[in-house]
Amino acid sequence: MAAWQRIFAAGALAATVAVCGRSVHAERDVSRATHVRSTDPRVLNALRYGLTRSASFGDVIATLDSSDQTVYIESGPCQPRELRSCLHTVLNREARIVVVRIDAGQPLKSLVAQLAHELFHAVEIAQEPSVIDAGSMRLLYERIGYPSCFDGGKPACWETRAACTFENLVKSQLASRHLNREETGRP
Ligand SMILES: [Zn+2]
Repeated sequence: MAAWQRIFAAGALAATVAVCGRSVHAERDVSRATHVRSTDPRVLNALRYGLTRSASFGDVIATLDSSDQTVYIESGPCQPRELRSCLHTVLNREARIVVVRIDAGQPLKSLVAQLAHELFHAVEIAQEPSVIDAGSMRLLYERIGYPSCFDGGKPACWETRAACTFENLVKSQLASRHLNREETGRP
């Protein structure tokens, strides 16, 4: 069976990052998306919202869709519980699978921004074919990230400035658009 490894939490932003991928927007039907999946209706709603309101959010999903990696998103707590969201990998030689755990009950825009953060981490892993198990994933985050929590003095979580920057980029895109009818409650 697979090796699980927990990474990261929230952190500060610093560097600018660009995520490559074709632009996708409202026309993408997330219920049929191939590589970013969830059965939680709140998560599916947030994915749809992100796709209609943030070009960068669409790009990160398109990048994952063109990869050999599948992302499953589920609602639930992380360990340690103060983490807003977290990502685990299930890696084996047959499939590259990532599981994102997130509080789907948080406000919509916060949920979308947090999803963007975790999906960016999924792209970081997808773009590294050398990541085949927990050890190689640890090497990746030792190289591109920094420890963000510790257990017994050893790093237990990892973070990257790029993911934090991407989260803030998506936040700014969500905030820059005019309120639509659904948000204002007007007919
Ligand atoms: Zn992170």
